[in-house]
This record gives sequence, C-alpha cells and structure tokens, in this order.
Amino acid sequence: MIKVSFAHMGYSYLGFKQLVEDMGFEVVVPASPSPATLDKGVQYAPEFACIPFKTVLGTYVEVLERGANLIITSGGVGPCRAGLYGVLQEKILRDLGYNFEMVIFDPPLTGLWSFFTKLRKILKKAKVSWPAFIDALRRAWTKLKLLDELEQLSTSIRPYEIKRGETTRIFHRCLKIADKARSLKEIEDARQECRGLLLNVQRDPERRPLKIGIIGEIYVLLEPFMNLEIEKTLGEMGAITHRSIYLAQYAKTDVLAHGTEDVRQAAYPYLNKFLGGHGQNSVGETIIYAKNGFDGVVQISPFTCIPEMVAKSILPKVSRDFGIPVLCLNIDEQTGRAGIETRLEAFTDLLRQRREKMEAKRNASLLLRC
Ligand code: SF4
Repeated sequence: MIKVSFAHMGYSYLGFKQLVEDMGFEVVVPASPSPATLDKGVQYAPEFACIPFKTVLGTYVEVLERGANLIITSGGVGPCRAGLYGVLQEKILRDLGYNFEMVIFDPPLTGLWSFFTKLRKILKKAKVSWPAFIDALRRAWTKLKLLDELEQLSTSIRPYEIKRGETTRIFHRCLKIADKARSLKEIEDARQECRGLLLNVQRDPERRPLKIGIIGEIYVLLEPFMNLEIEKTLGEMGAITHRSIYLAQYAKTDVLAHGTEDVRQAAYPYLNKFLGGHGQNSVGETIIYAKNGFDGVVQISPFTCIPEMVAKSILPKVSRDFGIPVLCLNIDEQTGRAGIETRLEAFTDLLRQRREKMEAKRNASLLLRC
C-alpha cells in the first residue's frame, strides 16, 4: 500500500490531505511541528541549514516513522539553498536507513516536461485518470482558497474580540468544518457556515486596531509553529495583520506565473534582482503596505536566510523613504516566545504613539486652516 505524506506548512495540509485522499492514496497527515520535530531536524541537518530545512526534515522523520513510503514535496529554483532542499533531505533520510520514494516538484515554469513526467508517474501509481485528477485538484484548490479566506477573516476580527481567544477558538472549529467538506458544494457550504461563525464573534466596534503587514520567507510566514503564532499574538495586542503570502494566492502568482508585476516594480529601485526565496518580494511588499496606509511591517526571516538578509539590509532605507516602521525578527531554534512577544509589544506601542502624534499634527494643521 502506498502511504503518501508531505511537509506541514500552516493550514494548507488540509487541502493536500484532500487531494492525496481523492487520488486514492492512503495519507499520513503530518502533525503540526513541535519542539520535538525541530529537535529531530537539528540532529540530522547540517548545522548551518536554514530552520525551515530542519523543521521539514524533522517532519519527514516523523511521517516515515509512522509508515509513509512516498513523500511528495516542492523544489525550488535557487539561487538560495531552496533549490537543494529536497535532494539533500532525501540523501540524509536514506543515510539514516529509511526506505521510501521522494518526488520533488520544481515550479512548472522552470521545466514543464519534467513537471508533467513526475505528475504522470504519480497518477500511474494512484491509477487515476487525468480528468479524475483535475476534478480532485479543483476541489483541493477550492479548499486552499477557503483556508486562506478564513485565515484573513479571523485576523481582521481578532483585534475587536471582547473575549480574548474567542476568534482563535472559532477559527479552529472552522478548520474541522473545512476538513469535513469534500465536494465543491460542501466546501461552499462550509465557507458560508464558517464566515457566519467568525462574523458572530462578539466584538467591540469602538476599537481602532493598528494595521500591520507581515513579510518574509514563506515557511516561517505560513507555519504558526515557526513564527510563534505571530498573527494571533499581534491580533490579541490589537492589530489587524495581513501576510504578504497566502498559499493559494502565492501558488497562482509566483508558482504558476513569474510573480506579481507591481511587487517587482515597487522593489526595483532598491533591489532589481531576483535573489531566490522572497527577498525581492519583502522589499516590494513593504512599499505596497506603506502606500496602502499600513501602520507598520514585521519581517520574519529564518536565521541565515540569504534573500531575507539582503532585504533586511535594504529595509531601513525603504522605511525612511516611505515613512513606515519595520521590525525585523530572526527565527532560529533558540528563539523563544517571550522574547518575540516583548519585541512585538514594544513595536505596537511605538506604532500607536506614532499614529497619535500624526493625528494630532493633522488636527492642528486643520485648525490652522480654519
Ligand atoms: S529562502 Fe531562505 S530559508 Fe528558504 S531556502 Fe532560501 S535561504 Fe533558506
């Protein structure tokens, strides 16, 4: 029996789980990463590998221990280390004695033929026809879009919640509802039900939340274990957050196409080259957040992530030129929740004071004009 597994990246695992099940495979659902997962990755990965590499490696060890024998993963195009992830992880796991197959999908635009050859191989294993696969893919894609929508809705509700933690509780209930929905109709019904549940959270409309953009490398942005639940923390501190990457949107703009033109154009005067990862996006997105009236931006980058290090060295100038405060957080295996929370608290205090000062200045100039 073929038992398929994949990396856990935020809530997207629900969409991939559905796709793999609908193709007729048995799925070994990866557990949400934990400190034990990271420990396993740290134990077997090269010391200077980026932290997403270590966490994903730890996840693979866990799913292989639970019987997975086919790992499906995505590759990368470099020039950073992302291009070598899958190959190196496969080698490490084989050296550890695991017997499995790994299929690495590089972005289709970097090699259409290789992409379709690998896909055909998987469909053959699953004994699934192309039309049946396309149907399954449509359902999984719709579910991924639903998950993105629910995440965005919950981050816009959380800062208004009266009972602390209520939005998060309802959001997790929604994940269970979304998981059970299989057909397109069921997914749409789940969407309506979950929107209703989230919009019913008791709120205080008098509050004036801050608006904070979150930029950085994809894995640390999407996986709450990695970013120490930054969106929940900021939401409970009274800020609406918006991430530069949501999986379905990212797949559409950056995996199946060459990225968003406006983000690249915005970054161009500061960084006119693609560095791999999301370095160029981080610069461009910061500018777009500033133009859209966000109060601040938080960059989350894995320790030693080259594209984010380059972006970090440029962000102070962007911050000055566009008048938007930027907080840079580096994540490694030593990063603790308390330290991050303290920095976020100080950052949100600064943003509030700044907003008050700007409002006072605006009011004073209005008075002068009268
Ligand atoms: S984007 Fe950063 S974290 Fe990801 S592989 Fe490249 S260097 Fe590592």
